[in-house]
Amino acid sequence: MGFSTTAIHAGQEPDEATGAVTVPIYQTSTYAQEGLGKNKGFEYARTQNPTRLAVERNIAALEGARFGYAFASGMAAIDATLRLIKSGEHVIVSDNTYGGTFRLFTRILAHYGIEFDFVDTSDISNVEEKLKPNTRMVFLETPTNPVMIVTDLQAVSDVAHRAGARVVCDNTFMSPYLQRPLDFGVDIVVHSTTKYLNGHSDGIGGAVVLNDEEDANWIAFVQNSAGAILSPFDSWLVLRGTKTLALRMEQHDRTGRAVAAFLEEHPAVRKLYYPGSLSHPQHETAKRQQRGFGGMVAFDVGSLEAARTVLESVKLCTLAESLGGVETLISHPATMTHASVLPETRARLGITDGLVRISVGLEDTDDIIADLDQALAKIS
Ligand SMILES: *Cc1c(COP(=O)(O)O)cnc(C)c1O
Repeated sequence: MGFSTTAIHAGQEPDEATGAVTVPIYQTSTYAQEGLGKNKGFEYARTQNPTRLAVERNIAALEGARFGYAFASGMAAIDATLRLIKSGEHVIVSDNTYGGTFRLFTRILAHYGIEFDFVDTSDISNVEEKLKPNTRMVFLETPTNPVMIVTDLQAVSDVAHRAGARVVCDNTFMSPYLQRPLDFGVDIVVHSTTKYLNGHSDGIGGAVVLNDEEDANWIAFVQNSAGAILSPFDSWLVLRGTKTLALRMEQHDRTGRAVAAFLEEHPAVRKLYYPGSLSHPQHETAKRQQRGFGGMVAFDVGSLEAARTVLESVKLCTLAESLGGVETLISHPATMTHASVLPETRARLGITDGLVRISVGLEDTDDIIADLDQALAKIS
């Protein structure tokens, strides 16, 4: 079955009671039971909800996974995944990971005796160096936000598995249409469904998908015990979103390439961060494990003043955090999404004051480029 067929049908049989082709929003907290211990498989809505179940099956199918669990946010999904790790165990993390992930790991989970090492996972020797007998997880993001560092999923999986560690990949930036980490040896995929899976900037959510039954049972246990579940309405919004995921990602990818090509040639742009560019250091790895390069493009205009001018001159692009929606969003990582990252870390990663990040939306490509062109003209 092709990707779009799966996206439109997986987990979504017509409703048994009415024939509704769209999975209904089962807005209920509990379910009538026929007798003691006799029910239809649904007892209480933190534990089971048919709308949530549908989106969990849907996302699992898109990633080629056996099991899926939907959470109230991407961070809740990542937090639940880290519950596989016990006090005294060690986790290796991509060092340019999402700021919220960095904050959760270093400022909360580190209090519970979990040890973290942050390394540039695009160089496999950095991962090998940090592997220890108590390493139980390698947590990757690829490409990273906002400087688009790409990690070789198969290479990391191979060395991590030899050391007895699970590999987790945050696949938010690519979506399963452009990258399926489980096909490259990764054990667990996490998503912020807030971004491309929802795709319409109208809900917060997260997901965990995986194949290992024992780990899956634990994630399900955490989901029910801690209770950070995705609501029925938000589950329905994500189901609405995944139906057009392939079409949307194709267009994000097409415009992303055009915007990157325009920026790369522009005299006011000092540096481009885009895995689809031949000048990107991991372009070959990106080509091998991704179906496309997606809609995230970052570029450096040299100074805070120049960045401010661009960000305040755009008319179509909206100045906002987040990504992956139908509208083009533009942001300033150093003062917005990455403000909590230490200045020396920002400098090492290339998150300079002149860096601008775009989440290319689904408006007409020419209109997006014309808007950037008039904004860049103000600094050249
Ligand atoms: C947004 C994001 C998250 C966090 O997701 P929320 O839904 O905001 O909790 C995690 N990882 C990446 C890569 C993200 O972009």
